[in-house]
Amino acid sequence: MSESVPTETCPLCHGFGRLERPNGTTVACQCRAGEIAEARRSAARIPERYRNCRLQNFKDLQNDSLKKAKAVAKRFVDHWPAIDAGLLITGPVGVGKTHLAVAILNELVDSKGATALFCDFSDLLDRIQASFGKGSEENQDDIVAPYRDAQLLVLDELGARRPSDWVREVLYGLLNTRYNRGRLTILTTNFGDEPDGRGGETLEMRVGPPVRSRLYEMCQLVAIEAEDFRKKHRAKAFG
Ligand SMILES: [Zn+2]
Repeated sequence: MSESVPTETCPLCHGFGRLERPNGTTVACQCRAGEIAEARRSAARIPERYRNCRLQNFKDLQNDSLKKAKAVAKRFVDHWPAIDAGLLITGPVGVGKTHLAVAILNELVDSKGATALFCDFSDLLDRIQASFGKGSEENQDDIVAPYRDAQLLVLDELGARRPSDWVREVLYGLLNTRYNRGRLTILTTNFGDEPDGRGGETLEMRVGPPVRSRLYEMCQLVAIEAEDFRKKHRAKAFG
């Protein structure tokens, strides 16, 4: 993306920032592209520490599952908006799941003009639960509405906290509405379909069967393995 030129010198719009089209409507001049992308990035509410996540700086050398995940992400960006499923990125802590999800979001905002939102699952639960309190200024619908409507939603750390039955319903409603509207969702989670090593819990146990089964229908699974996972298995196979 080219840098914005100072508007005073723009030979196309002479600083107005918009150009008139033959039908009388106006359209943003290309000299404003940088500003517009910046505004879209800031509207996406990406936490500061993830602002610079790109596909280019995603480290995928440790194992094949990372290489495959990066290839899926690149295809997602290249083919957008002609994509019919979101992504469910699973894997242990520290393999770069959030980096990958935010990289897709950043690339789409910058190169394809997508409107997107980042949402931390635990923050969302906190806000919904706070809205149940007396005197709360926000109601549940105000909180969830932007996430229902965004063209692309990144829902980070799904299952990080065990939601109450009521919140599971809200979560199901959100995902279901997005699915019915053809909106794409990218989710990251530490929980997979096999019980994990720590608590022995699956994603389904964390979010409930209706949410898990909805995710099967609306997302392609991208399973990232830990660095030592294959080594262990190889040792088993050949040892
Ligand atoms: Zn201009």
